[in-house]
Amino acid sequence: MLQIQENVSLKNFNTFGIDTHARYFVEIAHEDELVELFADPQWQQTERLVIGGGSNLLLVNDFAGLVIRMNIRGIEHRISHNDVFVEAGGGEVWNDLVNFCVAREYAGIENLSLIPGSVGASPIQNIGAYGVELKDAFISCKVFEIATSAFKIFTKDDCKFGYRESVFKNQVKGQYIIVSVKFHLSLIPNINTQYGAIGQELANRGIASPTIKDVSQVVSHIRVSKLPDPSTIGNAGSFFKNPLISIEEFNAIYAKFPDVVNYPGGDGLIKLAAGWLIEQCGWKGKTAGNTGTWKNQALVLVNHGGATGQEVYNFSSQIIDSVYTKFGVMLQREVNIIS
Ligand SMILES: Cc1cc2nc3c(=O)[nH]c(=O)nc-3n(C[C@H](O)[C@H](O)[C@H](O)COP(=O)(O)OP(=O)(O)OC[C@H]3O[C@@H](n4cnc5c(N)ncnc54)[C@H](O)[C@@H]3O)c2cc1C
Repeated sequence: MLQIQENVSLKNFNTFGIDTHARYFVEIAHEDELVELFADPQWQQTERLVIGGGSNLLLVNDFAGLVIRMNIRGIEHRISHNDVFVEAGGGEVWNDLVNFCVAREYAGIENLSLIPGSVGASPIQNIGAYGVELKDAFISCKVFEIATSAFKIFTKDDCKFGYRESVFKNQVKGQYIIVSVKFHLSLIPNINTQYGAIGQELANRGIASPTIKDVSQVVSHIRVSKLPDPSTIGNAGSFFKNPLISIEEFNAIYAKFPDVVNYPGGDGLIKLAAGWLIEQCGWKGKTAGNTGTWKNQALVLVNHGGATGQEVYNFSSQIIDSVYTKFGVMLQREVNIIS
């Protein structure tokens, strides 16, 4: 029997540590419980928010509807020659899945070590780090369609993955709940150490031929040294996306700011480092009331304690305005704003 709780504090369910309340709250540990939940017309009609680890949310107000926390567990794996097929429940912790695979030398998601959150949320923004994106290992996901209570499969094509984007944030937003995800990994590693400080850190450790375990450990080490730990200081990782701009726009910025940090963005676009843009506007390490930017990375907004979602949101708007004024680039928020 499902337990629907009332007036539940969400403080421990979002990594920003914002203290808002959900009018109703339910935890789902099995697929059948979704069918049971939505058999009651009340929940079909109520506003809903599905959450996993709450590591990509900014809760601006109390939530007047039903918060559905996904806790479906389980990891299954099958090997065929050098191919490995892994299916994980949407409520599994993403990094537990990474550790499960790394321990068995299943290669493909080691660069995504230590990203917070759940497996079920990983396709939502096509999580990415250190030159790898979820889509590189993704086969399909099983979803629950709220309108019909049917389970369906979304293939990689169906998901329309892009940079921190998928169909779930756009065309079909709010219509489906991801219950499990299938991955294609390999026993033959394709070690990717090109991005960021991985190569340097491996060299520091005297590792010339890294294993996927080495890569996972180095990525975890770099992340811990650069990003604030949400259990100590509330945050949701990168608050903004790195903007993608045309060559013409880039040339105009480069003429004025030749040291602008940029990367190839694919499809003829240039990706700018949002953290650099924000830092150039003088925001790095700034505190404003109970919020501010992280001292080592201006892209991360933090809760210094007792911040409200509105306070963080307003602060993020000030950053967007000043970056636009200086560079003519409009930053987009990566974090999901729940208002
Ligand atoms: C310190 C830190 C570092 C981070 N680093 C990275 C990084 O390197 N790369 C990166 O890509 N992200 C990063 N993030 C962001 C975050 O970890 C990811 O976006 C993660 O996938 C969010 O998972 P979650 O379970 O916490 O999702 P939540 O925050 O709970 O939800 C995020 C969104 O997904 C929806 N959702 C959640 N679960 C489901 C489901 N089962 N079905 C349907 N919709 C669902 C929610 O409604 C919401 O819109 C970081 C966050 C933090 C705090």
